[in-house]
Amino acid sequence: MDTKKSRFVILIDNGHGYDTKGNRSPDGRLLEYKYAREIAASVHRQLVSLGYDARLLVPETNDVSLTERARRANLVCAKAGSTNVILISIHCNAAGNGPWMNARGWSAFTSRGTTKADTIANFLYAEAERQFAGLKIRKDMSDGDPDWEEGFYILRKTVCPAVLTENFFQDNQEDVEYLLSVEGRAAIVATHVNGIVNYINAQK
Ligand SMILES: [Zn+2]
Repeated sequence: MDTKKSRFVILIDNGHGYDTKGNRSPDGRLLEYKYAREIAASVHRQLVSLGYDARLLVPETNDVSLTERARRANLVCAKAGSTNVILISIHCNAAGNGPWMNARGWSAFTSRGTTKADTIANFLYAEAERQFAGLKIRKDMSDGDPDWEEGFYILRKTVCPAVLTENFFQDNQEDVEYLLSVEGRAAIVATHVNGIVNYINAQK
């Protein structure tokens, strides 16, 4: 008997690993791999408790290669059917490579061209607008929707719709304060959980 809430398998990817160089706030308080894993764990836990088949793509703490990440995702797609799988990859943005920088805000990326991933990104953006009221939300409206399009490996090489979220800037002082705050963490988790659930509810 199928007791799951929907036909979808939700793959949660958390960027990088403890052995990734850089990818931290200039003061060392925020490590991207660790932060992404904490958010991913909360998103995963909430989706599972809501009855969804959510899975962590990289339960390890070391940096699992992008090739291996894509292989794992495509293995799930081969079993479940790629139209029944969605992948969300959780990251924090960076404008530079050392000192504090000025760029701020939340954004989401899809692969180039219009795919199901753009629809998922639209739902994530809609929820981000609710959760991050008063904060910067970075949009690229040049192709008629808010997400940014990039040839990121995890987006290009996975056969299911995939979205990569850049959750504020790890090298902006105000963003790091928000990222590490209780309300910031809760809003980032809620953006992912509600965005994913709203997308799934809108599918047949
Ligand atoms: Zn990253």
